[in-house]
Amino acid sequence: MTVAYDAIVIGAGVIGTSIALGLARKGLRPLCVDMGAEAGHGSTSGSSAIIRPFYSTVDGASIAYEAHFYWKNWADFLGVEDERGLSRYVNSGNLVVKCDHNDHMRPLLAVLDRIGCAYEHWSCEQLQERFPTITFESFEPAKPFEDDAFGEPNGRQISGAIFLPSGGYVTDPALAAHNMQRAAEANSAEFRFRAKVSEILTEGGRVAGVMLEEGDRIAAPVVVNASGPHSYKVNGLADGVLDGMTITTRALREEVCHVPAPEGIDYARVGMHFSDPDTSIYSRPDYGNDLFLGSEGPACDAHIWVDPDDFDRSFSDRWQLQVMRFAQRFPTLGIPGQAKGVVEMYDVSTDWIPIYDRSDLPGFYMAVGTSGNQFKNSPIVGEMMAELIAACEAGHDHDADPIRFPLKHTGLTADLGFYSRKREINEQSSFSVLG
Ligand SMILES: Cc1cc2nc3c(=O)[nH]c(=O)nc-3n(C[C@H](O)[C@H](O)[C@H](O)COP(=O)(O)OP(=O)(O)OC[C@H]3O[C@@H](n4cnc5c(N)ncnc54)[C@H](O)[C@@H]3O)c2cc1C
Repeated sequence: MTVAYDAIVIGAGVIGTSIALGLARKGLRPLCVDMGAEAGHGSTSGSSAIIRPFYSTVDGASIAYEAHFYWKNWADFLGVEDERGLSRYVNSGNLVVKCDHNDHMRPLLAVLDRIGCAYEHWSCEQLQERFPTITFESFEPAKPFEDDAFGEPNGRQISGAIFLPSGGYVTDPALAAHNMQRAAEANSAEFRFRAKVSEILTEGGRVAGVMLEEGDRIAAPVVVNASGPHSYKVNGLADGVLDGMTITTRALREEVCHVPAPEGIDYARVGMHFSDPDTSIYSRPDYGNDLFLGSEGPACDAHIWVDPDDFDRSFSDRWQLQVMRFAQRFPTLGIPGQAKGVVEMYDVSTDWIPIYDRSDLPGFYMAVGTSGNQFKNSPIVGEMMAELIAACEAGHDHDADPIRFPLKHTGLTADLGFYSRKREINEQSSFSVLG
């Protein structure tokens, strides 16, 4: 059976649902297909969903700052109801520890100054008022368990923190994808689940559609790869696409720990996204007085690259390592006997900056390599990709003359050449989940 659409989006995570919405709002009739059972049930479901404007590059920070306003005005952005309700943005702000490891935030503050994003300096005393049992000792560089100096302070201190009011976290990332699915459907997009793309079809040197594993052929002049950690596999299905890229992607295994808040801290009331480069741990509140904590990817922890179709979803000793590092900053943390949390994958690009681009196969596009840090940007990514696709399909040479996308809330501009598949490796990147 052959059916036809204006575009096919492969993947219904936050990125794919947003692209389906962006294309539908441009008047196209897209089909979004996912091999899973529901929108957002891939790696999006395991996201910590932290919204923060600080990135090591001006381009990365600009779009992340803009994203705050999309989440703040989520209902207006969607313009529809969802029978499951809308995901909630807790605009708690972000705290980033100032320490030797991040040069006491000087480089990141220079980026924030360039984009006009407000912040406050907090002293150690201010931190203590909020988190009475916090310690100010420095432990960097992060060490593996086997190191005799693990958990030993290095004799220096952190110097306080930066508070950013334009940040926080989204409580249910999978629901955010479902919300965008409903908004896309209200604009004539269609969704098909339990449908795995097994072939990218071509005709006359351009994309012609996809073939599903169960044998259905779906015709479309545009196909978008938004398959998350499977992105390299889907790119590999399309003629010549991988050959035309200098930046590539692969799947990285990650663990996020779920623990009760440290004793003596009313986390439910005062908690917020807390980034601590000194211990290489980030955290954010969850319901009740619990919190999620994850790794900021210190150099001493080997990357665990996996096959996204075959990886171990049980907790490893990474879980305890991360919890112990968090306890260096918050020593009243009770360490649970049983590991709880999330084991998921990042879709990591060569320089930890995503690829939002066309490809060397006309009609084939990609929004991949989100590197553990693009949940926040997803609502904008759909609009940017729709703009890019419309321009390229109308004959614009995006490789030679990259599209510039105006960011309406902040007045900044996103240069989409920053996300090119053919870029030089961006040496300004943190080469970590921090982007
Ligand atoms: C543990 C963790 C913590 C994170 N924390 C943050 C954070 O705090 N802040 C932040 O901004 N970002 C964060 N991220 C990153 C963010 O969540 C991701 O960038 C984002 O969710 C990726 O969405 P996606 O739609 O690209 O991928 P996914 O959600 O994985 O969606 C891809 C979809 O493609 C489908 N698919 C794959 N192959 C095929 C195929 N052949 N045919 C059909 N369907 C296919 C899959 O079933 C899947 O549903 C985190 C990520 C993880 C894993």
